[in-house]
Amino acid sequence: LRRFFDPLQDIAMFYNSYQSATAALEKLSGVLEERPSVPEPTDPVPLPASAGGLTFDGVRFGYGDTTVLPGLDLELPPGQTVALVGTTGAGKSTLARLAARFYDPDDGEIRLDGVPLDRLGDADLRRAVVMVTQESFLFSGSIADNIAFGRPGADRTEIETAARAIGAHPFIAALPEGYDTEVNKRGGRLSAGQRQLVSFARAFLADPAVLILDEATSSLDVPSERLVQHALRTLLADRTALIIAHRLSTVEIADRVLVMEGGRIVEDGAPAELVGGTGRFAALHQAWADSLV
Ligand code: ADP
Repeated sequence: LRRFFDPLQDIAMFYNSYQSATAALEKLSGVLEERPSVPEPTDPVPLPASAGGLTFDGVRFGYGDTTVLPGLDLELPPGQTVALVGTTGAGKSTLARLAARFYDPDDGEIRLDGVPLDRLGDADLRRAVVMVTQESFLFSGSIADNIAFGRPGADRTEIETAARAIGAHPFIAALPEGYDTEVNKRGGRLSAGQRQLVSFARAFLADPAVLILDEATSSLDVPSERLVQHALRTLLADRTALIIAHRLSTVEIADRVLVMEGGRIVEDGAPAELVGGTGRFAALHQAWADSLV
């Protein structure tokens, strides 16, 4: 079971392009996962508001010569919460990065609301699809700055509203300097759970139609775990979500589970449906449940 989990790392978030928020960018550079350059279309299709429907149509992709995803067809309807599970190396992060257009497929097409991702302007894509990953972090600055990064120019009321929605307000307000508390990129004196809540508040403020989340694997104490799960439900409401799930509790709130193996989706169904079967998810679920007792 161990191998099922990726290494422990902090959760945080980054954008699929960094052309705006240049001040923040300076603080972030060197910390974010590198986004290889994908060309912006010269004649982009405008996408004023995205419904969040995502389609993978015959998507083949590899890093260099090695094919990682041999051919993927997948339809994510708007609003669906999808948990992605599978052993390390199965291709989950690759699928997630393609959905945020970190890379373009070698073959096939990925569409958002019917528009190929490579036909969207960077700003529209960045607004519509936000990725929160384990590698990310908080940057050096105040808690308010860290949350506002979700929507550059947000005022204090908007920042606080997002923090309240996510359940981060009580602990922030209890700090001597409140929202002005300076944190460093490791989170300073914030606990792992608190850092996750700040990154969720940031994503909530960004309010993307599609959220891609690589869930943190770091274990939390029970009260923090509850807060984070509650925040996660709020964050997932009314948007499409693709979550690389490491927690049983997350899989259980998903509408749909995809099990990946060798770059292919080998099981696809509602958690309750798969858990009653004899496949990989049923076995994984059992192992997970056993590890909790
Ligand atoms: P998972 O998220 O399920 O652990 P990944 O998508 O990270 O799987 O990896 C799928 C395969 O792609 C693995 O064989 C991995 O070694 C390879 N891979 C992942 N990222 C890169 C990369 N940046 N360059 C080259 N190979 C990579």
